[in-house]
Amino acid sequence: LLTARGIHKSFGDNHVLRGIDLEVRRGQVVALIGPSGSGKTTMLRSLNGLETPDAGTLAFDGGPSVTFEGAPRSGRARRAAEARRTALRDRSAMVFQHHNLFPHKTVLQNVTEGPVQVQRVPRAQAEERGRALLDRVGLAEKADAYPRQLSGGQQQRVGIVRALALEPDLLLFDEPTSSLDPELVGDVLSVMKGLADEGWTMVVVTHELQFARSVADEVLFLDGGVVAERGAPAQLFSAPREERTRQFLHRIL
Ligand code: ATP
Repeated sequence: LLTARGIHKSFGDNHVLRGIDLEVRRGQVVALIGPSGSGKTTMLRSLNGLETPDAGTLAFDGGPSVTFEGAPRSGRARRAAEARRTALRDRSAMVFQHHNLFPHKTVLQNVTEGPVQVQRVPRAQAEERGRALLDRVGLAEKADAYPRQLSGGQQQRVGIVRALALEPDLLLFDEPTSSLDPELVGDVLSVMKGLADEGWTMVVVTHELQFARSVADEVLFLDGGVVAERGAPAQLFSAPREERTRQFLHRIL
């Protein structure tokens, strides 16, 4: 579904991504793990245009291949690059660490905002679909509530529904449970597991190694802006090939 090649990104002198390759097949769940600052979030954000890589190539099946190579020189090249990036962005939807819901909009308005405003889906249709999705995550009766009236776990489930409502090819999760109280984490992870079981394609940045182990098809261990090791979870968690993977797992397990 998605191929990323040689992705580089710096913030000033901080060379955060140093040539990352990533392939995601349709229906697959890929987990990105690694120490704080290793570049997991930056890589995830690069996949849907929230960050612009300095170098590398991104391509979705059936879409244009977008090559990043510094700032385009002419106005026309800049507009063409922008159009390719927009095409890229529309293929995926992100679930953030903090749900980023609009506080002054109801749950249903939060969920229908993207489809109605951006995708021009008729409101009635967007609302019907939004209610069905809320029902799926056990929040049907919260449609008309405001985010502040929900628990953190419920808010995060609304964040997931908001992403689903865009009907993207790819769901991106940026540590969706790391800001939650421990007792709320399970609900959100079980919604994510349900989506994986349904065949959604997902890239998940996570510190929940148990989740990565049981749900992911492939795990990438990032360290210092490179993929230090990649493999099936059973192999990577039980018999890591690299010393730094071993040390990381040892520290956190
Ligand atoms: P964590 O697990 O702590 O979230 P991470 O592996 O997701 O870490 P990133 O969030 O990708 O790491 O950050 C990698 C590095 O890039 C860090 O040193 C961070 O300070 C830096 N960085 C990230 N975003 C920006 C930004 N917008 N401006 C400047 N530096 C940034």
